[in-house]
Amino acid sequence: RNLKRQTMCRGDINKLNAKFLAIYDSLIPADEEKAKQKQLLTLLEKLVSKEWPEARLYLYGSCANSFDFSKSDIDVCLVMEAANSDKSEVLLKLADILQADNLQNVQALTRARVPIVKLMDPVTGISGDICMNNVLAVVNTKLLRDYAHIDVRLRQLAFIVKHWAKSRGVNETYQGTLSSYAYVLMCINFLQQRRPAVLPCLQGMDITYSVTIDNVECAFFDQVEKLRDFGSRNRESIGQLVWAFFHYWAYCHDYANDVISVRTGCTLSKRAKDWTRRIGNDRHLICIEDPFELSHDLGRVVDKYSIRVLREEFERAAEILHYDPNPCVKLFEPY
Ligand code: ATP
Ligand code: MG
Repeated sequence: RNLKRQTMCRGDINKLNAKFLAIYDSLIPADEEKAKQKQLLTLLEKLVSKEWPEARLYLYGSCANSFDFSKSDIDVCLVMEAANSDKSEVLLKLADILQADNLQNVQALTRARVPIVKLMDPVTGISGDICMNNVLAVVNTKLLRDYAHIDVRLRQLAFIVKHWAKSRGVNETYQGTLSSYAYVLMCINFLQQRRPAVLPCLQGMDITYSVTIDNVECAFFDQVEKLRDFGSRNRESIGQLVWAFFHYWAYCHDYANDVISVRTGCTLSKRAKDWTRRIGNDRHLICIEDPFELSHDLGRVVDKYSIRVLREEFERAAEILHYDPNPCVKLFEPY
């Protein structure tokens, strides 16, 4: 371990940068695909407003936060007051409406943890899920999108990390590994903590955007076009950042004591959050604070088995980046 190479030579780094940027470019959805998503959303809005004129539809998740790969499904949230009284009834009605308009594979999953209607549009070939009144997800989507507009290196880093996590099978919450949302928060917090910082802490700045949802106040600075130069004092390239990201999660993060927190731009202590012991199913073996629902640890899906899988994968990635002369092959090797 002591002999581990801590730095790469310039030639290695330039080669690695070019490889990562090529992967990033290949994963970005084409404009044509984004246009088709819009077209499907417009159709859904038309169908929904015929039945519920006061209802609104919002895109959320990766299709709206700019961290989506090409060929992603869309996540849609239907917001209306009436849906609070009987979600199942509204979802079943919605499924009928979609089916009558020839959308395919329509399925209402009314008993899921997050009840949804699934659909596939034969015209655009796009699939999607519609959930109801999940406004916090719409707002955290905006926060992620706003961060992505400040410095392109966030989007590049998150694409590489998501691509790695999907290739290595550690992006499966039902198997105890982390959601894409959690990985993007890890990338944001990592870039907030670089010195000089690549990203600011939007929730620690003057408030220009504020909404209260289910008694949770969501407030932050959202005039991100004014922050375009924020990261310019930090000259690290995507190759260096990916290297340092995996190095941090493999060897530097204090799993026993620390919580990463995009809300504060820092690391908090587990003790301060009272996340030191298992309560119910929340084991707090890797702690990632939700930026708005502060009692919510996105690492709560991780159990004593999957924490080992995750940490071994972080170490594997770090070792490959440290030693392998051509790391991109092994890094994304299917598990
Ligand atoms: P992918 O490209 O892998 O589908 P995604 O960005 O759609 O990525 P998900 O993790 O499926 O990622 O999450 C979709 C959205 O749902 C997130 O952007 C976020 O708004 C919300 N979300 C997901 N998990 C949580 C969670 N545990 N707590 C709060 N919001 C969440
Ligand atoms: Mg998604």
